[in-house]
Amino acid sequence: MNATVRERSNLLGLTRSELEALVAALGAKPYRARQLLKWIYRRGEADFARMTDLAKDFRATLVAVAEVRVPEIVSSRVSADGTRKWLLRMPGATGAEQVIETVFIPEPGRGTLCISSQIGCALDCSFCATGQQGFNRNLTAAEIIGQVWLANRELGREPDGDRVITNVVLMGMGEPLANYRNVLAAMQLMLDDLGYDLSRRRVTLSTSGLVPQIYRLAEDCNVALAVSLHAPDDRLRDELVPINRRHPIAELLAACWHYLERQNGRSVTFEYTMLDGVNDQPHQARELAALLRGHEAKVNLIPFNTFPGTRYRRSPAAAIGKFRDLLVQGGVMATVRRPRGDDIDAACGQLRGLVLDRTQVRLGSKLVRLAVRA
Ligand code: SAH
Ligand code: SF4
Repeated sequence: MNATVRERSNLLGLTRSELEALVAALGAKPYRARQLLKWIYRRGEADFARMTDLAKDFRATLVAVAEVRVPEIVSSRVSADGTRKWLLRMPGATGAEQVIETVFIPEPGRGTLCISSQIGCALDCSFCATGQQGFNRNLTAAEIIGQVWLANRELGREPDGDRVITNVVLMGMGEPLANYRNVLAAMQLMLDDLGYDLSRRRVTLSTSGLVPQIYRLAEDCNVALAVSLHAPDDRLRDELVPINRRHPIAELLAACWHYLERQNGRSVTFEYTMLDGVNDQPHQARELAALLRGHEAKVNLIPFNTFPGTRYRRSPAAAIGKFRDLLVQGGVMATVRRPRGDDIDAACGQLRGLVLDRTQVRLGSKLVRLAVRA
């Protein structure tokens, strides 16, 4: 008997070219890779035995060497407004179990899935529950696309056959550009016409501003870009979003305009969490308008979502409205994001999961190493 027990390869998360290479190594024709993609993503099938148009002996080979291994759901909750949140169990970097979160937000005419890219986050933004948890590890491509796979299975399709998930946003736990390779593979599967076949405008990556990776993304992938700005000046942004100390606002904006030019994009969305008395003053709205005016930019104002232990408060509705009006008067498109799922802690910045056994806690010099390594 063979003493080495080899883990079967997980086909989930392999891009089309990776799957083609694997299929070739198994001695099968390239079109088998396309069939597999369709089964796994379009039809949501994980059992090779049910992939009926694959040759029987090829199916037997697959059963022996491969599997479609999806993350395990620990629990699911539904908010009063219909938002759904799943907790998914993940093995941690050093064995202890971790939990990450995936959120589905239904709206008339569309359904948005908000997925996580890391267990925790090392970037330590002072107003974010995920950041306050510290960092454990990057999610694999299988674990990232697996969130879309599971949500599709759980939500089913509309009675008329339409897909329920029309948009995917990388706005859950983690900094997606600090997990570049795996996030890129997962996004390629979202866009692949044999994968989820989402249009590039319906996949949005949100970053706190890892400038070198924005330039890299401009060469590699064509998705909508959202950037967490939160302050109109470096002094305040250094405090709220510490990566700003390495990549200040001027550098970040230059990367955004480059991204738009390179990707022929429509606009960059700037997220701005409204913190009472911190970044919500009229002069700050004017400064923000001056930074963005004349560019293809939209501002999305996010009312701060509170979490235990935070020192921040949400700006009053009137201050948020005034801030938006000043932006618009200043020549910049601006909207206010309606908080969704806050009764089940599923709103922006409330995702905590269960990040135990942190291999990397908070910012400092570690952050810089992490950002550069990605
Ligand atoms: N790491 C990425 C994506 C995840 S955070 C990023 O920072 O862009 C998704 C959005 O929620 C970001 O704009 C983030 O700044 C915002 N956010 C974080 N904490 C929040 C909170 N407590 N209330 C409201 N928005 C928050
Ligand atoms: Fe990380 Fe984004 Fe939270 Fe900052 S706002 S700590 S980058 S998840």
